[in-house]
Amino acid sequence: MSERGRVIAAHGRQYVVERDDGSSLPCFPRGKKSEVACGDWVDFAPTGADQGVIEAIAPRRSLLYRSNEIRQKLIAANVDQIVLVVATEPGFSDELVSRAIAAAESEDIAILIVLNKCDLAAGLPAARERLAVFAALGYPVLELCARDHAEDLRPWLRGKTSVLVGQSGMGKSTLVNALMPEAGAATREISAALDSGKHTTTHACLYHLDADSHLIDSPGLQEFGLGHLDRHEVEHAFRELRPLLGRCRFRDCRHDREPDCAVRAALQDGGIDGRRLAAYHRIVAELA
Ligand code: ZN
Repeated sequence: MSERGRVIAAHGRQYVVERDDGSSLPCFPRGKKSEVACGDWVDFAPTGADQGVIEAIAPRRSLLYRSNEIRQKLIAANVDQIVLVVATEPGFSDELVSRAIAAAESEDIAILIVLNKCDLAAGLPAARERLAVFAALGYPVLELCARDHAEDLRPWLRGKTSVLVGQSGMGKSTLVNALMPEAGAATREISAALDSGKHTTTHACLYHLDADSHLIDSPGLQEFGLGHLDRHEVEHAFRELRPLLGRCRFRDCRHDREPDCAVRAALQDGGIDGRRLAAYHRIVAELA
């Protein structure tokens, strides 16, 4: 007899599924290939007192993932919003921000950029300047200091399932611990259930902020491959390109050296940012 539950932790091929009554059960997926992500709703069946098997994944309303030519890495399922955490220090990759935004756009996931460590005044102007291009595109940028003002983020999370994504060192875990002081204990409990205490920081975990607000913490990342998208999906994932598509002379324009290219014309006019277009070209080059 199978039950419906939500995956609240994912670590390799091991998962923790939360039941309706709030209790949780470590589960393995049926079969060798695992396509389960943190945040998934699944049908599972207990196989013993403290273990179960995931039999089916319910249809998802969104799936955030990254991929290179070899494999896909599922980040989180059924999320409404991606919270991209960057910081004044150490430096962050704005191309990584563009890539994460593209992954979210392609799944119709809302985007919030959080600029953390704003108390470190020395790096603030440069970080603001690098984020200005995203703010100009309409992506909200929230400045905060996770150590003192993590609460500023809470209103943005209300009523949604959000996933925190960021490079290591951006203060993501400080943010999680500040918003949910019990998160550390919950993580230890899950790690004990998965018998993977030494891997506490490498798995994705879903926390409940309240009955309707959930936050998935994902492992820090250093790259964000988009090999699962095709060129036209990448074009649409760069929102500033959308109004220009179909306006180039050639239908299959690569916006590179073709004559009468609407995108390059916009670049010359300053309507498109050069770093964003460079990121677009690097992403597309990887697809081939
Ligand atoms: Zn073009």
